[in-house]
Amino acid sequence: MRIGALEAGGTKIVCAIGDENGKIEIRVSYPTKTPGEMMPKIIEFFGGGKIDALGIGCFGPVDLNRQSPAYGYITSTPKLAWADYNIVGAFVEALKVPVGFDTDVNGAVLGEVVFGAARGCDAAIYITVGTGVGVGVYANGALLHGLVHPEAGHVLVTKREGDSYRGKCPYHANCLEGLAAGPAIMERWGKPAAELADREEVWELESDYIAQAVTNYILTLSPQKVILGGGVMHQEQMFPLVRKKVLDKLNFYLKNDILLKHIGDYIVPPMLGDDAGITGALLLGRQEAQRQAAAG
Ligand code: ADP
Ligand code: ZN
Repeated sequence: MRIGALEAGGTKIVCAIGDENGKIEIRVSYPTKTPGEMMPKIIEFFGGGKIDALGIGCFGPVDLNRQSPAYGYITSTPKLAWADYNIVGAFVEALKVPVGFDTDVNGAVLGEVVFGAARGCDAAIYITVGTGVGVGVYANGALLHGLVHPEAGHVLVTKREGDSYRGKCPYHANCLEGLAAGPAIMERWGKPAAELADREEVWELESDYIAQAVTNYILTLSPQKVILGGGVMHQEQMFPLVRKKVLDKLNFYLKNDILLKHIGDYIVPPMLGDDAGITGALLLGRQEAQRQAAAG
């Protein structure tokens, strides 16, 4: 089976073709522009019978409710050219194949559950700390949608004493994304995050905000694996800091050996690295093809 995978992000759109075992054979990447500029290129990449199904992992918010008239739409995104855009409908019409659809981070957690660090888990989360913060949630063996879909990058955190930065999120004064995504680091410290590698105080503060959120995710969702990815997590010195701070914040409330003895195997980088998202998109395509075949 040949499956197309589309990972649509705010800065770039990655298109790939692979097989049902997650092997990617060809890929291209384009900077994100308007649908009018991008869709013809993407359709040309996948078109002409090259694929049997397509999976899309998309920046959000998106409508994932199959009963909704706006199912398959990108909804209220600040990337205005894509707001209220029927991305699934456009590909179904152009390619005439099953099209699976979910958030980029739900795609990434699925990729890690099937082929990566969360293999064998029936509850896991994937957190990306990049241009924004997003969280994909796999719970009881399926991707969590619920009311909308998790938007756990915007959970509220307690501002640390001495941090006078006002936050970058237009909606919340003290959400994780507003205080800790790449653009917030840049604005607070006056330099891109990648150039602050040797500034200990940057990563001390950053890992504290991330640990606050991760602690809340652990308490709420009970994941068997916590995967931390995205550009900012390329600062790998944060992993030991986040692990220690999570344990401090839990304060021995959860008496579980995975946490108390093996936290190094519990809060981990993506095993698929920066391929988690595109591999997940491939799996969303596989899943939708199977769903439609089962439905006849
Ligand atoms: P996106 O979130 O746009 O899909 P990324 O996950 O690559 O893409 O995140 C981009 C953000 O990550 C930028 O804000 C950038 O400053 C930050 N970033 C990229 N590389 C590094 C690095 N090596 N160390 C710290 N921050 C980084
Ligand atoms: Zn917010």
